[in-house]
Amino acid sequence: MNVPALRAALTGWFADRGRDLPWRLTGEDGRRDPYRVWVAEVLLQQTQVVRGRVYFERFVEAFPTVQALAAAPQEAVLKAWEGCGYYARARNLHRAAAAMAQEGIPTTYEGWLALPGVGPYTAAAVSSLAFGEGRAVLDGNVRRVLSRLYAVSQPTDAWAQGVADTLLDPARPGAWNEAVMDLGATVCIPKSPRCGGCPLSTQCLAFATGEPGRYPAPKVRAAVKEVRGVALLIGSAKTPYLEQRTGALLGGLWGLPLEEMPDTDEQAALARLQARLGVVAQGRLGTVQHTMTHRQLNVSVYRAAARPGLPLTTAAGRPLSRLDHKMLALENESAVQPLLF
Ligand code: SF4
Repeated sequence: MNVPALRAALTGWFADRGRDLPWRLTGEDGRRDPYRVWVAEVLLQQTQVVRGRVYFERFVEAFPTVQALAAAPQEAVLKAWEGCGYYARARNLHRAAAAMAQEGIPTTYEGWLALPGVGPYTAAAVSSLAFGEGRAVLDGNVRRVLSRLYAVSQPTDAWAQGVADTLLDPARPGAWNEAVMDLGATVCIPKSPRCGGCPLSTQCLAFATGEPGRYPAPKVRAAVKEVRGVALLIGSAKTPYLEQRTGALLGGLWGLPLEEMPDTDEQAALARLQARLGVVAQGRLGTVQHTMTHRQLNVSVYRAAARPGLPLTTAAGRPLSRLDHKMLALENESAVQPLLF
């Protein structure tokens, strides 16, 4: 591999074709704002760029600085994160902002890595993009590009990180990292790589095989677990009774009272929910399906009248998961069906 030629080809391509994204703006000093870089990198880890762009603008408008984020209540942070999923990331952003408001924004990879919720990828991205530190990022896009460049079908993380470190352009580590990520996102795409427009094709070993899409071999996906549950819409979709969720996935968000169904006995689950809340279901609104971190949720939603002692809340004022938005939408989408039991 001719590394200097590879670097020149890719950084040249990036200068012409790199994506124009809001977190790539530089200040008058030519530097990136580390806060915006950090927020964008965390947000984009599980979100496509088109949607991520909208979420990013909304988030930095609500919290333009690390101090503003640190000073906000957690509920406001979750509200601004609404729709992005993976809410642990928002809770960690908030905790890390509190640490930075006290101790200042780190300027090194090690300093970023010490913050809550910041792993090697984010630390490498912020330290290279905002501070010019020579750290190579490794995400899914980079891994795919390297696997193809060397025609390695099952690249381990250690191998991919080693190659990324070797290829990193020490003169422009931030531009190099973004160039590899952009190439993976726009040219060296998963199913049908666009090798005709790729600046690396003359050196790419997978391209030379004639079947670059075979690299890397597909990963074995974790099995999706089916989770069934019953929920109650008490009041109306605009002003329902809501409970604050706990747990790693949705902790801190609000949602309809929900009872998990460890067996298939929907009647028993509904009876437990009614007994806990002191209400009686009047009808069935429908079923909602939602996929969330290797779980397929199937929730039957029932409706019940409000009663004194259960406070109703304006739903729009609370952070809600997409699952809860779908459940609330049933009020307008479907007629109430009679109870079957
Ligand atoms: S030549 Fe094709 S397979 Fe190789 S890096 Fe470029 S787009 Fe990917």
